[in-house]
Amino acid sequence: MDRDNDFKLVNMEKQKHIALVAHDNRKEDLIKWVRINKDKLGKHLLCGTGTTARMINEAVHLPVKAFNSGPLGGDQQIGCRIVEGDIDFMIFFWDPLTAQPHDPDVKALLRIAVLYDIPVATNQATADFLLLSPLMNEEYERKIIDYSKRMHRK
Ligand code: PGA
Repeated sequence: MDRDNDFKLVNMEKQKHIALVAHDNRKEDLIKWVRINKDKLGKHLLCGTGTTARMINEAVHLPVKAFNSGPLGGDQQIGCRIVEGDIDFMIFFWDPLTAQPHDPDVKALLRIAVLYDIPVATNQATADFLLLSPLMNEEYERKIIDYSKRMHRK
């Protein structure tokens, strides 16, 4: 099966467009992590779901563009920006022990992040590894698989 030509490459600039999201029980953890990594994160463009963005902005004094609160559609807005190519990186500290009313939105966001091949950290260790990658300050070509070509192949 020839899979050499069934994807498209999308360029990521050196300056990444990073989405920051944390469920309520993980917000303090994310704020601490952002504070520790303020200098590195400050080189990039930040956005986030409403409450997360506001809390980071207030606590760490980094500009974070706020979408709606997650349960009010913020996760879907971020998913939409990923599809449109305006967000290419995500740190999402989700809570593995608490049921969320917007669980379908969270699932959809994580699915879209995989589909569009964006780096995603869902816990602190992964976030540390990602942020320390030399690729954080390089251009990078994401590989978006064209599933329509794969589906038509018999
Ligand atoms: P919030 O949303 O930052 O508005 O709390 C996060 C989420 O629960 O998805």
